[in-house]
Amino acid sequence: MNSITERFVRYVKVSTASDPNSSTSPSSSRQFDLLRMLEKELTELGMEKVFLSETGVLYAKVPGGMSGDVIGLIAHVDTSPDSPGENVMPQFHKKWDGLPIHLNEGVQIDPDQCSDMLRYKGDTIITSDGSTLLGADDKAGIAIIMETCEWLIQNPSVRRPQIVVAFTPDEEVGRGVDNFDVNQFGADFAYTVDGSEVSEVSSETFNAWSANWEITGREVHPGSAAGSMINAVRIAGELIALMRSEEMPENSSGRDGFDYPLYVNGTTGHAEVKMILRDFTTEGMILRKLRMEAIRDCLVSLFPGSQIELIMKEQYSNPGEILKKDKRLVNFALAGFERCGIASREGSIRGGTDGSRLSFMGVPTANMPTGGELFHSRREWIAEGGLQIALDGLKNTLIIWGEELK
Ligand SMILES: [Zn+2]
Repeated sequence: MNSITERFVRYVKVSTASDPNSSTSPSSSRQFDLLRMLEKELTELGMEKVFLSETGVLYAKVPGGMSGDVIGLIAHVDTSPDSPGENVMPQFHKKWDGLPIHLNEGVQIDPDQCSDMLRYKGDTIITSDGSTLLGADDKAGIAIIMETCEWLIQNPSVRRPQIVVAFTPDEEVGRGVDNFDVNQFGADFAYTVDGSEVSEVSSETFNAWSANWEITGREVHPGSAAGSMINAVRIAGELIALMRSEEMPENSSGRDGFDYPLYVNGTTGHAEVKMILRDFTTEGMILRKLRMEAIRDCLVSLFPGSQIELIMKEQYSNPGEILKKDKRLVNFALAGFERCGIASREGSIRGGTDGSRLSFMGVPTANMPTGGELFHSRREWIAEGGLQIALDGLKNTLIIWGEELK
C-alpha cells in the first residue's frame, strides 16, 4: 500500500459522523477522536503552531515559506449523517476490470453512472463493504493535506509560499466554519480539498436558502367536519403539488438550481414542511423565493381560515464573484493539475463547502478535487490513482505559487 492510501485507510476507520440534531460544537464528540489523532501527527511531523480549539477546529503551519501571500489548505473531519458511518471496512478492488462492483446488502457501483470511473480501469478502487459510506468525503482531503505537509517538511528546498492548514468539524451539517478563527488561520487565500472528480477545480457554489413552512389547520371530529375542518395535511400535499417538477433536484444538473422539499410531518391541526432552495445566480434565487411566496398566497386563498407561515433563511452564498477578483487562486490550481497531465476545468460545485462561507469571511477559497465520488452514499468510491493525482495536483499548485511569488 502506498503512503497516501495507508493514511487514507487509517483515517476512514475512525467514525466521525456529524449530528444535525445536536447543538454542541463539534456536533458529535467522536469527531475529536480524529482531530486528536491529527493533532498528534502534525506535531510529530514538525508542523508549527499546532492548535486544537475547544470547538474542534485544528490549525497548524508548515515551517518556513517565502514572505508574501499565505496559502491555506482545509479539509473537514466529519462524515455525512445521511448514510451509516460506523465501522467503515475499506475494500480494495485490485486491477478493476471496468465492470459494476457488487458490495454487501445489494449495493452496486455502476461505472455507467459515474462519468469518469472508467479512467481508472486496471487501477485499485477502494469502497466500503456496502454497509456504510466510505468517508472519502473528506478523509481523502485530510490524507492529501497531511501527505503534502510531510512532503514540504521533507523537501525544504522546494520554493513555496507560507502554508497553513486547518481541519474543521461539522461541514456536513453546515456549521464547519461557525467557530473558525480566520486570524488564527492566517491565510490570504485558501483551498478546501473537498471536491470530487480530479478534472475539476470549483470556483463557485450555489446561493443557498432554506424555506420552512408552518401550516396550522383546524381539528374537528371527521364525522362532523363538514364546513369546519381545515386539514393541514392536505394543505401540505397541495403545497408540494404546486411546486414545479422540472425544478426538483432529480431533474436538475450542471448549472441548474433546484427547489427541494426534504421533510414533511403533520396532523390535521398542524403540518411542517422543510425545503431548500439552490441557485447559482442571485436573480435565479430571487425568482425561487418569489415563487415560494406566490405558492403561499395561493394556498391562503385555497384554504381560508388556515394559517400558513413561510420562513426563508439564507444558508450560504455563491463566492464566484469574490474569486473572480484574483484569478491566481483558480488558475494556479488548474495549472497544477495540467502539470499532472490532467485536462482540468473550472467547475461549479452543486453543494456548499466551508469555502463558500470562508470567502465571505475574507479568505477567498476555491475547492480542489480529492478523486472520490458518489459521496454521502454506501456506493462512495475512490481510485488509488485518483487519490494520487489529487495529491500531485495540490503539490504542483503550491509549487506554482512558489514560482510566482519570487
Ligand atoms: Zn465534504
